[in-house]
Amino acid sequence: MKTFLDWSAYKDSGMGDAYADIPKTGGDFAKAVAVCINSRQCEREAKGVMCPSFRVSQNTNYSTGGRVRLLKAALNGEMGDLPFTDPKLAEAMDLCLGCKGCKRECENKVDMALIKMEYLAQRQAKTGISLRSRILANFPVWLHRYPWLKSLPKLRNRSGLLAKLGEKFLDVSARRQLPEPASDTFSPPAPLLTDLAAQGKEVVLFIDTFSRHFEPEIPEAALYVLTAAGYQVSFAEATKNSADASRPLCCGRTFLAQGLIDEARAEAQRVVDALLPHVEAGRTIIGLEPSCLLSLRDEYLSLGLGEAAVKISQHAFLFEEFLAREHTAKRLNLSFRTLGPKTIPALIHGHCHQNALGAMKSMRKILKLIPQFEFEIIEPSCCGMAGSFGIEAEHAELSLDMANQTLLPALQAAPEAQVISNGFSCRHQIRETAQRQPKHLAVLLREALD
Ligand code: SF4
Ligand code: SF4
Repeated sequence: MKTFLDWSAYKDSGMGDAYADIPKTGGDFAKAVAVCINSRQCEREAKGVMCPSFRVSQNTNYSTGGRVRLLKAALNGEMGDLPFTDPKLAEAMDLCLGCKGCKRECENKVDMALIKMEYLAQRQAKTGISLRSRILANFPVWLHRYPWLKSLPKLRNRSGLLAKLGEKFLDVSARRQLPEPASDTFSPPAPLLTDLAAQGKEVVLFIDTFSRHFEPEIPEAALYVLTAAGYQVSFAEATKNSADASRPLCCGRTFLAQGLIDEARAEAQRVVDALLPHVEAGRTIIGLEPSCLLSLRDEYLSLGLGEAAVKISQHAFLFEEFLAREHTAKRLNLSFRTLGPKTIPALIHGHCHQNALGAMKSMRKILKLIPQFEFEIIEPSCCGMAGSFGIEAEHAELSLDMANQTLLPALQAAPEAQVISNGFSCRHQIRETAQRQPKHLAVLLREALD
C-alpha cells in the first residue's frame, strides 16, 4: 500500500513481538495502527480528553480502540477490495475529531489524529472529495485571493434561507453560526531595527490564517507584549521562489484535516522554506493558534520534508510556552499590574492540542505572573468544535453534547467569570453556546501590562 504520509517513524514498532498483531497489509502505517494493545482504557469513564466521541455516544466503534479494531479488519482484508470505503469504518473515522487526546492519554500513545489523515487520503483516492471538504480545506487560500468572500459568513449567519441552502447543498448545519472574518486583516508592521539582535532577543511571530483574518487583535496584542518584553519581532514571509509567493504563509492544517495531504505538504513546504533561514540565524518561532503552531512540531514530521522540518520543529513554540521558558531562564522582562479589584476566578479552557502537547503548564506559569489574578483551569475535555466538526450538519448535535461534558457546566457555574481560551474553534464554540466573550492569553497579558 502506497501511503500519503511518511510512517517510517514506526518502522521498528512491534517488530519481534509475536503478540503485536500487525495487520497483513499497510506496511509502517499498519504498525502505527497496531500500537494499540486493545486494553480498552479508552472505553472507560475517565477524566481527560480521550475519547470525546465515545464519551458522548458510549458506542465502542467510536472509541480510539474501536477505530483501531475496524482499521485492522480493513488492513487484514476483511472489508473487501475497497476497505477504506467500508461504511462502518467511515462512520467511526468521521467521528474522530483529531483532538490528539489519545496521543497523550492512551497508554501506548496511539496517534489516531494522524492515522485519520492517512485514512481520509486513502478513502478519497477511491471516492473523490466532497465539495464541503474542498471548501473547508481551501478557505485560507481563497480568503486571500477573493477578499469579497469575507462577507459571506456574515450574510449567511443573518439569513435563514442561506443557512437552509447551506445545509441542503453543503451539509453545513443551519443551526450553527459560522465564524465571521474581521473587517481588517492583520498586516505586520515594518520591522524595527535595533541592536537587540546582538543580545539574542530576536523572535519570529508566525501568523496563522485564523488570527490574520478573523481576530487580528490577537497578533497585535502578542506583538505589543513581546516588544514590551524587549524582543525584536519579525514576521516570516513566503520566499520569492515558493509557489504563490505573494500569499501569506498558512500552516496547511485545513488541508490536513480534510485528508488533502499533497496540498498540505505544499503549504508546509512554503512554511519550512520561509522559516529555515530564521531558525538557522538562531531565532525562535512563536505561534498563537495551538493547532497551527503545533502542526510545525507534530504533523510536519510526517510529511517527508526532511531535516529542515526537524530543525524548525525544535525551535517552534506557542506564545505561552515561549514566555514560560524565558521566565524560567530569568530572561523575561515584563511587569504586570493587577486587573482591577479582586473578583471571581477566571476560567481557563485548554485547546485539545495544548493539552495533548503539554502546553497548559506554561499557561498556568504565565497567568501566575499577573498579581492577584485568580484562575481555575476547566477540567480538560474537547469543546466539540474541533475545526469544522461542530458546524458539519451530521456532527452538530454531538458537538453540543461534547461541549456539555465539562466546558459548558463550568461556564454556567461561574456566569461572571472571565474566560481565557487560546484556541480559535474553542472560542467560537464558547461564544455561540455560552454567549461569553473569551480572550486569548495575549490579549489578557496586554491589558495587564504595567
Ligand atoms: S487505543 Fe490505547 S487505550 Fe484504547 S484500547 Fe488501544 S491501547 Fe488501549
Ligand atoms: S484523536 Fe481524539 S477523537 Fe480521535 S480517536 Fe483520539 S481521542 Fe478520539
